[in-house]
Amino acid sequence: MKIIDLRSDTITLPTEAMRQAIAAADLGDDVYGEDPTVKRLEEMAAALLGKEAALMTASGTMSNLTTLLTFCGRGDEAIVGSESHIVHYEAGGASALGGVAYRTVFNDKRGMLDPEDVESAIRGNRLHFPPTAVVCMENTHNRCGGSALTTEDMRSVANVAHARGVPVYVDGARIFNAAVARNTPVASLVEDIDAVSFSLCKGLAAPVGSVLCGSADFIVRARKIRQMLGGGMRQAGIIAAAGIVALETMIDRLAEDHANARVLANGLSNIPGVILDPSTVETNIVIFEVQGIDAVEFQARLAEAGVLTTDSGAGRIRMLTHYGISRADVEEAVEHVKAALQVKA
Ligand SMILES: *Cc1c(COP(=O)(O)O)cnc(C)c1O
Repeated sequence: MKIIDLRSDTITLPTEAMRQAIAAADLGDDVYGEDPTVKRLEEMAAALLGKEAALMTASGTMSNLTTLLTFCGRGDEAIVGSESHIVHYEAGGASALGGVAYRTVFNDKRGMLDPEDVESAIRGNRLHFPPTAVVCMENTHNRCGGSALTTEDMRSVANVAHARGVPVYVDGARIFNAAVARNTPVASLVEDIDAVSFSLCKGLAAPVGSVLCGSADFIVRARKIRQMLGGGMRQAGIIAAAGIVALETMIDRLAEDHANARVLANGLSNIPGVILDPSTVETNIVIFEVQGIDAVEFQARLAEAGVLTTDSGAGRIRMLTHYGISRADVEEAVEHVKAALQVKA
């Protein structure tokens, strides 16, 4: 049976060019600072994001944890969005390992924080208060259907944080999807942001890794935290080599994934029993609900037909488009959804 795997863009396999770059990579011990391929990736990433320096990490989760432990001491507070990946999917890492308190601020359906809420959540200098050490945003926003915040969105939060001396971090696992969707150079998108991480292994299709970017001073401190977390990797050029190919060849084509997601969303929204506003689909994530059938049962039926999806909680079903999913695949997936909803329970 043909499988149309829409669970995540993390399932993408490396391209042939990546496999060749991995085989040919110049290597050294990166903990000694001697892996030329890692250095090249870090320099490329810093230049692309418009930051002074960069640090390759094992994962987006490690980038987020490294950042929180770099900005926050024990007992400090990190302001995070209520639907953020940091709050929902990282096993409470910064609390468990760094004694960091998460102060959640409501984020709207686009994953946006209200600058006024952020302003009032930032602690003043009072004996009783835990100090606010960082404000975290997410772009694109995973649980909010891949919505893409604009430069102005991020600036409006950065302005209130910076006015109080608090740095701003963007969990940009899919920041290139945001840049492509907003038709904005990624460096402009994050120009007001102090630190940002992006994933190499989601839509960009590299096998492993993320890159954290920020000021030279921040990256020096983050490198020490990464070491503490066991994230110092030796001949990591094996990973970086594929990352370089990802940055060189896989960013512009994200537009294809977005176009396919729009076709998918439009197709789904025309099916009776599907609840979805296709105008909310801005990048490669499509989240919808179904009526008249239990979401879990519906997903099981789709899986039987070869269409794999993710349970996004509270009856929400998530589909992602990615490298390896064609226009024909999304059209076929729409037909399978129709069929799955027509079967009488
Ligand atoms: C996937 C993701 C992460 C975590 O990345 P991993 O490499 O899976 O650890 C963090 N933040 C967001 C927004 C993500 O989508």
